[in-house]
Amino acid sequence: MSDTKFDLIVIGAGPGGYVAAIRASQLGLKVACVEKESKLGGTCLRVGCIPSKALLESSQRYHDAVHDLADHGVQVGQPKLDLPTMMKRKDKVVSTLAQGITGLFKKNKVAHFQGHATLLGDGKVSIKGNSPQDISADKILIATGSHSAPLPGVEIDNDRIGTSTEALSYGDVPKRLVVIGAGYIGLELGSVWKRLGSEVIVLEYLDRILPGMDDEIATEAKKIFAKQGLEFRLGVKVTAAKKKGKGCIVEAEGSDPIECDKVLLSVGRIPNTDGLGLDTAGVELDERRRIKVDEHFKTTAEGVYAIGDVIPGPMLAHKAEEEGIACVEQIVSGYGHLDYNTIPGIAYTHPEIGTVGKTEEQVKESGLPYKKGVFHFRANGRAHALGSPEGRIKILANEKTDRVLGVHIIGPHAGDLVNQAAMAMSYGASAEDLARTCQAHPTLGEALKEAALATGGRVIHS
Ligand code: FAD
Repeated sequence: MSDTKFDLIVIGAGPGGYVAAIRASQLGLKVACVEKESKLGGTCLRVGCIPSKALLESSQRYHDAVHDLADHGVQVGQPKLDLPTMMKRKDKVVSTLAQGITGLFKKNKVAHFQGHATLLGDGKVSIKGNSPQDISADKILIATGSHSAPLPGVEIDNDRIGTSTEALSYGDVPKRLVVIGAGYIGLELGSVWKRLGSEVIVLEYLDRILPGMDDEIATEAKKIFAKQGLEFRLGVKVTAAKKKGKGCIVEAEGSDPIECDKVLLSVGRIPNTDGLGLDTAGVELDERRRIKVDEHFKTTAEGVYAIGDVIPGPMLAHKAEEEGIACVEQIVSGYGHLDYNTIPGIAYTHPEIGTVGKTEEQVKESGLPYKKGVFHFRANGRAHALGSPEGRIKILANEKTDRVLGVHIIGPHAGDLVNQAAMAMSYGASAEDLARTCQAHPTLGEALKEAALATGGRVIHS
């Protein structure tokens, strides 16, 4: 019989839960982690960040082979798509990393229970699965993540009409794919299938794409993606999507009905708070069914904490991880820290979009005096060498103190570049600090420096 009494039980082994479990164990706690799926790693690893990035990489290589390699003087004949191999590679990436987490649990002595966890109150958790049992702990951490939001009238059949999970595993390239929702998940997966040959139509209720992102960057993104062949229909309210004949039909206010082979619904995500026994344990939810927590991730129930997608804030893997670490460090030492102003967000499209801090719209709304520096990648040598001179970097800084308030990038490797900006901001950098940092030549980092110079009207290459 396995041990049933722990210092901490973590429910959910996504990036929030599994990282918290490992850190808590490092800090000397006796930790159990309960996960209902057979693979560890959560949404992110099984059906989110990792498989989507694997397909983005493979589809970009296919696209390059078809369209771009000849420009580099590389002749490869007529490339042929082998979708089953592409999917197999993606699955292998996922299983390799999932096994890695199993190994990390063993190494860090985290007890792993497979099954569906429910809170019973008083520190007790019931596990239903192959070996049902109750376990208990002084503290419980809920990290149960989120699932795709439904949309009234859209009849999900998990095949022709599905969510990102299905779009990560289509067996054939759809001739015509309708993506409902122009957030980063819809655009990433829409890009994958566009590169592999689908006609892709993106329907969005708002009059813009990438809601929440800096407007100037989102506007440029739309132009670039439209040039790549994604068709955007904005201000469109989808009222129904259903199977018709061998395909599907999507009905919407503001658009004629659209016939297509597949529908990808990506209109946001909902916290996993049902069936967890939250009422029994006294854990309260807010109006959007997210678990209410204080600044130390404490819920309304004594000894119960929550982190990640199941609480308010951006639904991002690294946000969940950092919260997990801050939460257990707070439990053990009384100190745990996370700066919500410096959490980067990335869309792994081509080019990528990376953003950290306040958008220009948020800065304007806050009333802070600000200045802005913009630098275009078309004036950066490395971007040309990469064959990717589209896009720009925008830095927003406080007019009076010079402190960097936000950095927004669309361009090559924006996802890596934005981490430099996030690091600088987490050290409280000024635009002058960024402008005086020597960046190696020729690199994309030079564009960051130039954008910082531009906040003071001293840009060199523009
Ligand atoms: P999750 O990863 O959702 O993990 C929660 C876990 O809890 C799951 O494994 C679930 O099975 C388990 N669970 C739930 N209820 C129970 C229960 N009662 N008992 C036992 N186990 C339970 N984020 C990024 O930062 N970068 C990206 O590139 C990115 N790409 C994405 C692409 C897609 C297609 C999707 C869908 C999401 C993407 N995300 C990305 C978002 C990211 O996946 C989430 O923000 C992240 O996984 C949240 O982590 P979490 O630990 O809070 O929850």
